[in-house]
Amino acid sequence: MCIFCKIAKKEEKAYVVYENDNVIAFLDINPLSKGHTLVVPKDHYENILEVPSDIAKDLHEAIKVVCEKLKVFSPDGFNIVSNVGSKAGQVIMHAHIHVIPRYKDEEGKPISFGKPIKVDLEEVYKALV
Ligand code: 5GP
Ligand code: ZN
Repeated sequence: MCIFCKIAKKEEKAYVVYENDNVIAFLDINPLSKGHTLVVPKDHYENILEVPSDIAKDLHEAIKVVCEKLKVFSPDGFNIVSNVGSKAGQVIMHAHIHVIPRYKDEEGKPISFGKPIKVDLEEVYKALV
């Protein structure tokens, strides 16, 4: 069973910020920004293109709930992305959507991202639930 299936079945620990019957959202273990969350169908599909449309609807609803929760960190925008295939950077072959809050610096410029940041996940989690 893949790691995200295990998280969905609560066999592996994660900081779960939202879930319903079909989807689960939890903090990315190597966040690219404060609040970086993964929105994931509980059933195993290899990538977002394999997800049936009725489940995709739940994913969309979950993204909106997660973004609303993440507003506690006052982000200036979000990147909502899903990698399809290893050549596109997909590492976990279980469909997931990255919700990455974006912030601007003191000069109003977007803070660049790419490398994981150091952040206390426990603290982020507590602010969201
Ligand atoms: P991908 O590159 O497949 O689009 O993204 C996979 C994401 O899953 C990465 O951002 C990585 O940090 C995250 N990730 C990998 N393993 C785990 C894990 O065991 N727990 C959590 N919470 N995130 C994980
Ligand atoms: Zn899986």
